Amino acid sequence: MIEIKSIPIFKDNYVHALIQGNDCAVVDPGDAAPVIKYLTANNLNLTTILITHHHNDHIGGVEKLKEKYGCKVIGPSYDKDRINSLDVLVSEADNINVFGQQATVMHTPGHTLGHICYYFKNIKTLFCGDTLFSMGCGYLFEGSHQQMWESLSRLKRLPADTKVYCTHEYTLNNLKFALSIDANNKSLIEFADLIQKKRDSNEFSVPSLLATEIELNPFLRANSKSLKNQLGQQNLSDADFFGHIRELKNNF
Ligand SMILES: [Zn+2]
Repeated sequence: MIEIKSIPIFKDNYVHALIQGNDCAVVDPGDAAPVIKYLTANNLNLTTILITHHHNDHIGGVEKLKEKYGCKVIGPSYDKDRINSLDVLVSEADNINVFGQQATVMHTPGHTLGHICYYFKNIKTLFCGDTLFSMGCGYLFEGSHQQMWESLSRLKRLPADTKVYCTHEYTLNNLKFALSIDANNKSLIEFADLIQKKRDSNEFSVPSLLATEIELNPFLRANSKSLKNQLGQQNLSDADFFGHIRELKNNF
């Protein structure tokens, strides 16, 4: 039975850890020290690192961890020249195995061109890096609006009871923006209250449930006629309306 724990690092990043017995795999270790501290405190051995994309706050701890634990590093083949220490290069539709659980690699360009997500079907778990955040999505540093909308649309088609493990604790800020464009959405208001209470008692807002994201995350609702109408953009295509929401958020 795999357990998943989240290790907070930096100001608002998480390193998610898959744990089975005394073995551990981590996703996007941007810093080594807090991960080593966690592994030591819990008597765990690091066997595997999964990487979603090349940004330093996701890979900064990889070399040190690999040196200390001799673990295997799995990451996007697209980024092979931008990430040192990759042992296993993966791309769209590849399957990897972590402690007997199979994960499918989904290529989700937008935030970066090589960004990948890891979907563990049997444990209903998605590690989506900086593609999808709870109530938000990543900045488009490298990809187009069309690419990111297509990537998010693919994530939307996963089973609704999938747990979404993104890398950042941005949920409250994302909710402020979501409410600014959808102020009368009762479910959104209720969800914002719930997250505020969680954060007030130092609980993580991650993981979220894909069903909640599909219902309330404005970036997953770029195909919503009612949201388009509310913002006076009924003539835009879904991808262009996604771009419109992204621009509004960039300037929020
Ligand atoms: Zn990033």
